[in-house]
Amino acid sequence: MKEIVVNNLLRENIKHIKPYSSARDEYKDASADMVFIDANENPFQTNVNRYPDPQQTKVKERLAEIKGVSTSQILLGNGSDEVLDLLFRAFCEPRQDNVITLPPTYGMYKVLADLNAVDIISVELDDDFEPKVDKILHVQNDNSKLLFLCSPNNPTANSFSANKVEELINGFKGIVVIDEAYIDFSAKASWLSRINEFPNLIVTQTLSKAYGLAGIRLGICYASEFIISVLNKIKPPYNVNQLTQEKALDRLNEIGAVEEQIASILKERSVLISELNNFSFIKTIYPSDSNFVLAKVDDADFRYKQLIDKGVVVRNRTKQPLCENCLRFTVGTSNENKLLIKILNQL
Ligand SMILES: *Cc1c(COP(=O)(O)O)cnc(C)c1O
Repeated sequence: MKEIVVNNLLRENIKHIKPYSSARDEYKDASADMVFIDANENPFQTNVNRYPDPQQTKVKERLAEIKGVSTSQILLGNGSDEVLDLLFRAFCEPRQDNVITLPPTYGMYKVLADLNAVDIISVELDDDFEPKVDKILHVQNDNSKLLFLCSPNNPTANSFSANKVEELINGFKGIVVIDEAYIDFSAKASWLSRINEFPNLIVTQTLSKAYGLAGIRLGICYASEFIISVLNKIKPPYNVNQLTQEKALDRLNEIGAVEEQIASILKERSVLISELNNFSFIKTIYPSDSNFVLAKVDDADFRYKQLIDKGVVVRNRTKQPLCENCLRFTVGTSNENKLLIKILNQL
């Protein structure tokens, strides 16, 4: 019954769209001992002369195992950016619908809204960088299709209160997208375990941060089977390339190594925070539930330039709402962090 509600949120053209049917959709078993002359590929071996699996079955099977979901609740994309773009295309009618974002937050939501000619309603976070639940639920209208909650949030580094997120999932009339790009660094639970409970919940994750694979571009969308089936119809047929699928699978088979790196980054984060506390020109260090630290300094533009001159590139977030004079520091290796502290001491 709830799925009918989600169906009503879809764009009219998407409800009835017929997907492209690729050669590998029509005959799926690429490993079979068959002569494949159906896709106009070059028959000579290059290791990648064949089209990749359009459904990325092996990667999904491994992810499903790790995350405790079904493969039919997973869609993979060319980075989270492609996944997020598909959500706009599925749910937001250009020049008619709107999405809600909570600045300061990840810049791609606005870029994708502009790209898709979809209005943005911005409701700033409160002074604790938490969502203003009542205000968000008050400004939504019948055309509000997506609400983006980035938790842990970039660039503020905090996770949102679970109660507030749940109130939003229950009270929002469209789809709530929780962007969990940094969830592997978080002390809080992922919302992934709740996707069966809420038909209007989408969780996105990525291999770009904790998994150390930003270069291969693999974004992940978890949602109900219904939502995933719709996204599957509109994604480009071969959107995740062969090399990416292989590399992702290798990495997902060495979870222990990933977990060690996460532990090391979290340890370094606390070292970094305690060191940053010693500088008088650093005014506030905000609590971090992620692999970066947001800090308010005396003059962000000036400190940013000073650091660049000494060979260290941080992110200057001073132009973002609520982030005046804030710099964002990604937690690096132990040596990188020591070098940063040494250089800060020279300023
Ligand atoms: C880094 C980041 C991503 C990752 O995007 P990819 O396209 O998967 O690399 C997504 N969301 C947020 C908030 C991020 O900071």
